[in-house]
Amino acid sequence: MFVWVLSSVYIGLSEAFGLDKFVEEDMRAIVAVPGKENSIQIKEMDIPKISETEALVKVKLVGLDRTDREIIKGLHGESSEGKKELILGHESLGRVVRVGNQVKSFKPGNLVVATVRRPDDCINCRVEEYDMCLKGNYTERGIKGMDGFLSDYYAEDERFLVRVPDELGKLAVMLEPTSVAEKAVRTAFEAQRRMKWRPETAMITGTGTLGLITAVLVKLKGLDVVCVDRSNGEYKEKIFSELGVRHFNDQKINLHDIPKKIGKRMDIVFEMTGSSSIALHVIMIAGTNAAVVLSSITGGDKHIVICSDCFNQGMVLGNKTVVGTVSSNKRDFQQGIVDLLAAEKRWPGLLAKFITGRYSPERISEAISSMGENIKTVIEFDTSDLGNINPESSEETSKESAQGR
Ligand SMILES: [Zn+2]
Repeated sequence: MFVWVLSSVYIGLSEAFGLDKFVEEDMRAIVAVPGKENSIQIKEMDIPKISETEALVKVKLVGLDRTDREIIKGLHGESSEGKKELILGHESLGRVVRVGNQVKSFKPGNLVVATVRRPDDCINCRVEEYDMCLKGNYTERGIKGMDGFLSDYYAEDERFLVRVPDELGKLAVMLEPTSVAEKAVRTAFEAQRRMKWRPETAMITGTGTLGLITAVLVKLKGLDVVCVDRSNGEYKEKIFSELGVRHFNDQKINLHDIPKKIGKRMDIVFEMTGSSSIALHVIMIAGTNAAVVLSSITGGDKHIVICSDCFNQGMVLGNKTVVGTVSSNKRDFQQGIVDLLAAEKRWPGLLAKFITGRYSPERISEAISSMGENIKTVIEFDTSDLGNINPESSEETSKESAQGR
């Protein structure tokens, strides 16, 4: 009887986690040829073999972002050595189904998110600060020289996996962008150790997923937050109002007028629009002793004319600091978990509203083309063992609900 009960529990658990399903199957993988436009396709592939220090992870959800879209357009990306195609996707959430003999910190059933960057041998990478890589010979899963996570399974060394509490559930698909926001916030606060600093107001330009998550993080720090973007829709207005942030549309107000309009000095500015000209303007808008954090990747060759004397004088007399930030490291993922849990507690249900587009792997092209209308678009592989994500968002209604982003 006792044995029967135990084996029933095991079967129940393994069914719930899909642990028994991976043995003989091939897997689906979404691939593209870097440098070649519209080469995206779904392929059948072998499930990866794991080494002694790796875990095999069954993919639950993968988020898409601008980098994925650029790879698909042929503007970005690099496949791994000897391969033509790259498995896309770097924002993952999955569950461990099998571990190598030497894996110490994970076991089947654990919910995990993988970090993205893999180190080279530079001084920063050697101390696990691979987001600050000096030589640039790093690789990135789904982006640069390594396959990503848009497949039914992936293998990963346990050093690059982050354990996610089950209570975070589907929201953990936003942990990777959250880690990037965490690094931006951490960078601002570390840079400002140069003085006694009590920031009151933060301005965030651009309210895609990264901007919204950054707004959440700085609200959690108790700051007054001003979001600037081009959205007109009611959907985002509700998010701003629930979060308690002020919102301006930069097509209706001159950016430079915002501090005066609200009577506040901008102590931190996070520039997240993807526009280099806005990046230069926000440096001028930032207040005395401010930190300006730039995070937009702008691959074009845009030129603008600015008053260089004004720009320089503002920087010097204002004691301003401007820092660039990209990617994140494992401690940013760990801090991200703490803050996502805190945010869910403070604003229940709000984070789920950021996920407005949900698509099956087979509908990847549709998912990509809908990204401009969505806040966060995710590909759902297998979410049967995770709770409901966003009752207001279904595949059918997602496009309408997020209009006006
Ligand atoms: Zn390095």
